[in-house]
This record gives sequence, C-alpha cells and structure tokens, in this order.
Amino acid sequence: MLICTGFGNNDAKSPLAPISFNRRDVGARDVQIEILFCGVCHSDLHFARNEWGFTEYPCVPGHEIVGKVTQVGAAVKGFKVGDNVGVGCLVDSCQTCASCKEGLEQYCETGMTMTYGSTEKVIGGPTFGGYSNQIVVDQAFVLRIPAGMDLAATAPLLCAGITLYSPLRHWGAGPGKKVGIVGLGGLGHMGVKLSHAMGAHTVLLTTSPSKVADGKRLGADDVILSNNEEMMGKYAASLDLIIDTVAADHKIKPLLNLLKRDATLVQVGAPEKPLSIGVFPLLMKRRRFAGSAIGGLRETQEMLDFCAERKITADIEIIPIQKINEAYERMLKSDVKYRFSIDMASLKA
Ligand code: NAP
Ligand code: ZN
Repeated sequence: MLICTGFGNNDAKSPLAPISFNRRDVGARDVQIEILFCGVCHSDLHFARNEWGFTEYPCVPGHEIVGKVTQVGAAVKGFKVGDNVGVGCLVDSCQTCASCKEGLEQYCETGMTMTYGSTEKVIGGPTFGGYSNQIVVDQAFVLRIPAGMDLAATAPLLCAGITLYSPLRHWGAGPGKKVGIVGLGGLGHMGVKLSHAMGAHTVLLTTSPSKVADGKRLGADDVILSNNEEMMGKYAASLDLIIDTVAADHKIKPLLNLLKRDATLVQVGAPEKPLSIGVFPLLMKRRRFAGSAIGGLRETQEMLDFCAERKITADIEIIPIQKINEAYERMLKSDVKYRFSIDMASLKA
C-alpha cells in the first residue's frame, strides 16, 4: 500500500486539514503520478461540505490534477517516468458498455469511478482526490499534457475546461452561432475562452458589474448583467445555446427567454437545491432544458490539444494548500480570478 499525505476532512462541518491515507500499489496497468498542481473546483467545496448529500468521509477533494509520472506498471503503454500528465474527474469505468465504447466514460452505464468520493476498486474505501502528494491511476484515465503548456494554469482544464468544451461541441458552438455563458467563475471563464476560440459570437451573462471588462478581455463579444431586466430584454429570443455554470440557486426563466425557438439551455452548474424552471418559456418556443457532465477521455485529450494549439489555459491564482479553506470562502463570494491552482510543493512545507 502507498502511504499518501494531503488535505481533507472527516465530516461536513470540519475545515480541510492535513491527512494521511492509503492508495493501492501500482498495478500492471497503473501510472503513479507525483501531483504538482491541483485546481480548486466549486464541486470540491460542495462535496467536502456534503451539500449534495452523498459524501463519504474521509474526503480528500481535487479533480484538476497535473503532475509527473514517477512509476509505471508492466503493461503500461504510452506513458513513461518523467512525462507530464493530467487526471480529471474520473479514474475508472466499466469500459465495455455502449457509453464507454463511444468514449463517453462519464456516462458509463454501471457508473464511473470518480477521482474522489467513489469506491476504490482494489483496496476499497473512498477514492481520494488531488489535494495530495501522489495518485495511482489506470493508464486509460491518464491524459497527456502537450509540451509547452504552463502546468499550474493547465490543471483547471481537466474539469472546468472539459465541462464547457463538451457541451459547446455537442450543441455545435461555432461560426454563425450565438452562445451565452452564464456566470464568470472557474467554469464560466473557460466557457467564454472556448466558445470564442470555436468562433461563436459569445455573450457573457454575469451578476457582477466588476467582471464586465474581464469578460470582454477573455473573449466575450457582449456582456449582459443578468440582474438588469432592461438589458436582458434586448437579447430576448436571440441566442442559439446557453451554458449555465452558476453554483447557487438562481432564476432560470429569464435565461430561457433569451433562447431562440428550438434552442437549448444546458445546465452544468450543480446547485445544492433543486432549481425552479417554469414551463411556459419552454412550451412557447419549443425550447429545451438539458444537462451535461464533464467529458470522456478522448474528448478531454482533444480539448487539451485544442487548448495547446490556441495557447488557451485558465486564468489562475496560485495558492499553497494551507490556504484552501480561505480559498473556499473567497469562491463563495465570487472572489476568484478565475481559478485557484494549488501548488502541491507546499504540502512539504
Ligand atoms: P465558481 O468558480 O464558484 O463560479 C460560479 C459562478 O456563478 C460565480 O463566479 C458567479 O458568477 C456565479 N454565481 C455565484 N452565485 C450566484 C448567484 N447566487 N446567482 C447568480 N450567479 C451566481 O464555480 P465553478 O467551479 O465554476 O463551478 C460552477 C458549478 O458547476 C458548481 O455548482 C460545480 O459543482 C458545477 N460543476 C459541474 C460540472 C459538470 O460536469 N456538470 C463540472 C464541474 C463543476 P458571476 O459573478 O459572473 O455572476
Ligand atoms: Zn470540477
């Protein structure tokens, strides 16, 4: 067994604190990774505080992992010691069902194994995430980080990046399309950059007047203050696609009203409480309300390569792991520009 150190908690009310735990030894198909950086996703906070109601403790969050390979199993092909690699939100799936065969492991019909908070298949107990010094992952769930990418700023692509890339691709964002991105946080700022890079006319919807200039700098053609009814009215029935990244309760009806006939609002934000929708904006223009979860391995690699080619990474603030609880409080106040990336060397401090 591999003894690891990290930051985690033992119940919903406790802050994250130093913790040690076991991971499985490197198996024939496994890659062992020294974690260099881990992004801080709002899901980490929801999960550590059991806001979704299914957290098993101890909990070690973190699913935006970038690191260096330190060991490979005998059957591993394609990775060697010293390679820069990434691990996102999932570390296993059945790999035989129709969804897995299509490269949609996140929709595995028997359930994916999440990077943290699922059941570890070899040694049992919960899987532990990237707020730690090292991780052992099946080679099929390890991503290649293209040469030249800044590692700290690439980590957030492993969740925030793919969670926006996948629905933008699935719903056809590109030239001639008007795409709305709701919320300028970790996910939303990647949505603005990616939608712009795909060639769509990109509209940011934010509740924060202080983020208007940043929205434009990041690639938005227009920025709408979503609390301003007059501004919202001007954009009625004008968008082909909306991706909503908001992490808290908020009104969906005004967003649906921005969609053209037959257009889709994709919910990727996962607030603690059910959202109230109101059916009339759906009925009157045959609009659709949909959801999307992260992305499969093939598409995640495609996203990394797309970002490398266009020199896209996240806008980050690097923090030591000891600042994680403070970072969570700042995230709740939307005071992040636009993703925290933990320098895991701080664990040794
Ligand atoms: P984040 O960095 O905290 O960003 C969320 C943004 O939502 C904020 O920056 C803010 O943007 C907006 N917002 C916050 N409170 C609001 C409120 N009360 N009303 C309206 N807008 C509000 O969070 P994140 O890491 O991007 O994650 C966003 C959500 O996506 C979380 O619920 C997370 O769990 C979920 N998630 C889902 C997936 C998936 O696969 N579907 C993957 C990762 C994360 P403005 O200041 O611009 O308004
Ligand atoms: Zn995430």
